[in-house]
Amino acid sequence: MADATYDAVIIGAGHNGLALGTYLAKSGLDVAIFEKRAEEGGGLCTEELTRPGFLHNVHCNYHTLVGVSPVYRDLQLHEHGLRYERPPVQMGSVFGDDTALTIHTDLDKTWASIARFSQKDADTFRRLIEETKGYLDLILTTLMFSPPLSMNDITKALVAWGVEEKAEFLSARLRSRSINEFLDQHFENDKVKAHLAFHASLAGYSTDRRGLATSFPLLVGKIDNWPVCVGGSHALAHALWEAFAQAGGRVFLQHGVARILVEDGKAVGLELEDGSRVRARQLVASSINIEQTFLKMLDRAILPDGFVEAVEASPHMDWSYFSVHLAMTRPPQYKAAEFDPDIDQAWVVNVGYDSPEAINRHWEAVRSGKLPDACPNAAVNSLFDATDAPEGHYTGLLRHFAPYSLSPGGPEAWDEMAKDFGVRCIERWQKAAPNLKDGAILDWATYTPLDITRRIPNMVQGDWMGGLIDLDNMLDQRPFPELSQYQTPAKNLYMCGATQHPHGFITFAPAYNALQVIADDYGLERWWR
Ligand SMILES: Cc1cc2nc3c(=O)[nH]c(=O)nc-3n(C[C@H](O)[C@H](O)[C@H](O)COP(=O)(O)OP(=O)(O)OC[C@H]3O[C@@H](n4cnc5c(N)ncnc54)[C@H](O)[C@@H]3O)c2cc1C
Repeated sequence: MADATYDAVIIGAGHNGLALGTYLAKSGLDVAIFEKRAEEGGGLCTEELTRPGFLHNVHCNYHTLVGVSPVYRDLQLHEHGLRYERPPVQMGSVFGDDTALTIHTDLDKTWASIARFSQKDADTFRRLIEETKGYLDLILTTLMFSPPLSMNDITKALVAWGVEEKAEFLSARLRSRSINEFLDQHFENDKVKAHLAFHASLAGYSTDRRGLATSFPLLVGKIDNWPVCVGGSHALAHALWEAFAQAGGRVFLQHGVARILVEDGKAVGLELEDGSRVRARQLVASSINIEQTFLKMLDRAILPDGFVEAVEASPHMDWSYFSVHLAMTRPPQYKAAEFDPDIDQAWVVNVGYDSPEAINRHWEAVRSGKLPDACPNAAVNSLFDATDAPEGHYTGLLRHFAPYSLSPGGPEAWDEMAKDFGVRCIERWQKAAPNLKDGAILDWATYTPLDITRRIPNMVQGDWMGGLIDLDNMLDQRPFPELSQYQTPAKNLYMCGATQHPHGFITFAPAYNALQVIADDYGLERWWR
């Protein structure tokens, strides 16, 4: 492109880059976003991977925090054609003995389902949900949608509030516990624990990792908020793009960024992969990974001592996702529907984890590069969104927790292993739902952890979260203390993507929090409050 000048330039048109761009454009800045790929949205991509008319969400399928995020409201995304359906049966588990547990939007129905396994656990779950709902919005707003505090400050505030007397499930002690320990302390039935552990895992929280119990009550508080994005996840990307364009912003697709231009210690623009230069009168923001931003794009001479080492030492997720996308003629009818008919109406279904130990075994296998026995989770969006498949057909998704690097063979071994593991995942699903045999599956395609990195260059090592979810990599420690407040060693350069607090997932929170810092630094009027 020809050299150009804007007030603000942003690297990457994922949901965080688009959201920050829209707020800035609506604040009167002339904003341009530069995106390497041929479409906007980053992880919000929907493609006909199998056959025409079958819309597959290649990455993000679950938008559990969109409704809570202030961004959805501030940018009035519903006015840009965005629509969600909230399935009445949100999720479920089918177990090896063909029983099933279902989570409903109606708490009484969830209570009744859990009570079939343990009345005590059903009562505990009700108390946990009711307590969590009481403080969920407050905590989400103060912790997720604000620049990060330190864990010590949060603990002090909780203790001063009297958390141990006022809350049964929230406790300062959670910072030393794993989700498994939380479950063992409060619940008795393995299947109930398995479902709750599965739900936390889907959100990226490894259940055996010490300290992650801190987030568990908040995760449970959103267990009944799994909305289906009508038309596929890309509909959210499109709504964001439209909001941005209407505010005067421009997205340049297939315009990868090669370098960040710095003069006198200040970021002043970008050099694109085609060699052209874009100047920024006020600021540059990066929504991509820290390795590209600091080790490839910036002149290392401007970085303080120890900074490069901190970037290099920043941990990535130690597991990724393997997916099978399916074009189908009918939805699953689970054998377990004889036990609980609602399971056939559940959106997201855990197929195979009967206990937290089964999930633990999978974490161990995945961390040593092995492929575990197939225990996929299944979602058929067409049950709730008739637009995502040709009439009378269904689009299916199987996901599996998986290593990025296989042992032996490394990441490249995925190209050989994918088909075989895909077959194992499908067969496991068919075992639970025998009607999926005999012509139910027209076509299918795999998508491996290596494919993730090939497609989205900032998701290095199949890391779909922008960095490990771990207590030592959260809040003001994410990605490391010097980079945790969205500012960087180069003046006027900000970080606004999944590497920042709180983490990846479609939350908009990194962009929203970066915006608060930028608003302070540039004296922007906060029209969004
Ligand atoms: C298989 C899979 C399943 C997932 N499932 C879910 C889910 O169900 N729910 C959920 O909430 N999240 C899910 N995620 C995670 C989610 O997709 C990410 O956390 C989210 O996309 C991060 O948003 P972002 O805007 O920060 O970055 P991204 O969406 O990664 O966007 C960054 C953009 O920057 C671009 N870029 C990279 N390098 C350059 C460069 N040099 N120049 C210009 N542009 C560049 C990329 O092409 C990309 O478009 C999933 C991810 C994967 C991989």
